[in-house]
Amino acid sequence: MKIQSILLGAVLLSTGYSQAQTDDGVLRLTEFAYPVKRQLLNIPNVNGYQILKCDFHMHTVFTDGHVWPNVRIQEAWREGLDAISYTEHMEYNPHSADVKVDHNRSHDLAIDLAKENNIVLVKGTEITRQTPPGHFNALFIQDANALIADNDPKLDQAAIDKADEQKAFIFWNHPGWKATTIPGSYEWIDFVEKMYQAKKLHGIEVVNGLGFHKKALDWALDRNLTIIGNTDIHNLIAHDYAIERPGVHRTMTLVMAKDRSAAGIREALDAGRTVVWSSKYLFGKEENVRALAHACLAISPSYHEKTNGKTQDKTKYYEIKNNSDLYFELELKQGKGTKRLVLYPESTQILTAEAGQQKLSYEIVSTYIRSDKHLQFEINLK
Ligand SMILES: [Zn+2]
Ligand SMILES: [Zn+2]
Repeated sequence: MKIQSILLGAVLLSTGYSQAQTDDGVLRLTEFAYPVKRQLLNIPNVNGYQILKCDFHMHTVFTDGHVWPNVRIQEAWREGLDAISYTEHMEYNPHSADVKVDHNRSHDLAIDLAKENNIVLVKGTEITRQTPPGHFNALFIQDANALIADNDPKLDQAAIDKADEQKAFIFWNHPGWKATTIPGSYEWIDFVEKMYQAKKLHGIEVVNGLGFHKKALDWALDRNLTIIGNTDIHNLIAHDYAIERPGVHRTMTLVMAKDRSAAGIREALDAGRTVVWSSKYLFGKEENVRALAHACLAISPSYHEKTNGKTQDKTKYYEIKNNSDLYFELELKQGKGTKRLVLYPESTQILTAEAGQQKLSYEIVSTYIRSDKHLQFEINLK
């Protein structure tokens, strides 16, 4: 309460100050204005790579979204994202009576604002075929208008080929979105197998919005495809995500990039260096999730040892630190120590272990390195 009143006092003071500077007869009541600030998402570098926070799937009024393109840049800046991509539907334009159909337009309208806000805007589109085969995002294209907008199933292959001609990075979107309404659609279908064989499929969207497509994660892992997660947002982010609550973030792809540039992102996507972050969970290839967890978590030397009166067992005390805004939940699988650890963002926990052990073996149950498997994580005791 005290802090709040100090803050409010500071706001009032600064308002009073600026008012005194420019008294034009309008008293500005700024107390309820959203403070101009960019949220920082702190994630340490991993193996020398920067972690870029990216959302490669979203819509605006230029297809079936509800917002003007600039709004997406403002949202991304506020939420601490590094890169986004407008992926308007090629074959679906429900607003065409009101908004002229131009598949490049949302990108072109927002590119200056993106640069001014240090947001990398990757040019993309959503190839929106009937299901199956469904939808595919093509990133790093040059001209969306040169792609195929005709939704005749006979042109499905040509639609992919056209994007491939522009050297696009192509991933399969939300493979399970019609699992119940179109039987057989949530399978590794022939169409996708042919794309994969022809090296025209480079990734799979494993998390779409708030949905984890479990089979899709295993398909990506088994074929060494890049693991992607996006919002596929159509409305305001704040309409679908409770982002006013501390710790809440949109679904995104964490890209381990050499630098914060479109070229850096492309290189990392081609190399498969991604982890998806959605809700409190991380999804990805084992090596990537492991490297990320190791970069974020640190164990201290033991600072205290206690002998238990009855058994004469010795207990050692350690601190385990989460040096990131990610969330980690660990369950003990082997060894004698703290059974369950919840490592909230930017926080420390006490870990106890029976003396005489070299390590404790945990599972990080807030990670998925397969649809049915969490990351095994060893803690070496010093
Ligand atoms: Zn879609
Ligand atoms: Zn979409």
